[in-house]
Amino acid sequence: MAQEFELKIKEVIQRTYNTKSVRLELTPGVDYRAGQFMCVTLKSEPVCKRYLSISSSPTEKGYIEFTKKLTQSDFSCALDRLKPGEALNIQYPLGKFTLDDNPSDKIAFISGGIGITPIRSIAKYVVDKNLGTDMILLYANRSVKDIVFKEDFDAMQKAYPKLKVAHVLCEAAPDFKCTVGLINAQIIKNEIQDYKERKFFLCGPPLMVEAMRKMLTEELAVEKEGIITENFIGY
Ligand SMILES: Cc1cc2nc3c(=O)[nH]c(=O)nc-3n(C[C@H](O)[C@H](O)[C@H](O)COP(=O)(O)OP(=O)(O)OC[C@H]3O[C@@H](n4cnc5c(N)ncnc54)[C@H](O)[C@@H]3O)c2cc1C
Repeated sequence: MAQEFELKIKEVIQRTYNTKSVRLELTPGVDYRAGQFMCVTLKSEPVCKRYLSISSSPTEKGYIEFTKKLTQSDFSCALDRLKPGEALNIQYPLGKFTLDDNPSDKIAFISGGIGITPIRSIAKYVVDKNLGTDMILLYANRSVKDIVFKEDFDAMQKAYPKLKVAHVLCEAAPDFKCTVGLINAQIIKNEIQDYKERKFFLCGPPLMVEAMRKMLTEELAVEKEGIITENFIGY
């Protein structure tokens, strides 16, 4: 059951030129599962509220983190001004974009842009717990500078050989391994060759999630029961 808390900001981290993470001091009490989300209310004028995925993993102790793409909205502008020591209200844990109790042997994530936040949480959890789950992430972005949690995923790949990250970018970058274009059935076949054996986690803007779900079920004959989705309504 979700509960409401007033939590103090511990740290604000600039992730990319237009993305910030906010870490909140977490007093032990309410647990969450990797991949869940929260409702964040800022004490701004006017008060603003957004649903945001938890980008930290329950294995990271002492804080809970969310990560927001900064737009021109009132919420984004107020968030951009937040400083450590200030407080905000959160309601959590919410949502079912989570691993099974006995995670599948093989999973695949497909994400675009800021849709990476709950996936970062799940991947970090699997790596820290050394669960043995084989993970492939297909991550779409406009360019290298838009990749959120790039260093985190690089470090996780080094620490956990059963994680593969395949970047798909609209713009090629020198010395950066990626496929250029938009995610399509052929890219999935190339990067996730055993896709029929995997459970899929899709997260991003609703239009992207729906296009990916359709492609998997209609073009690649993936069973719909093997696909779990999180829609970032608002993008
Ligand atoms: C489960 C969930 C998890 C999310 N996790 C993240 C995250 O980790 N990081 C992140 O940056 N964003 C996340 N979002 C999206 C986030 O809630 C905001 O909608 C988004 O960040 C845009 O907000 P804004 O203030 O920047 O822009 P604005 O354009 O000012 O805000 C959009 C506002 O309009 C509402 N809105 C717009 N279109 C619709 C629609 N079709 N139906 C209903 N409401 C609509 C939004 O809910 C929001 O209140 C998540 C959304 C959901 C539902």
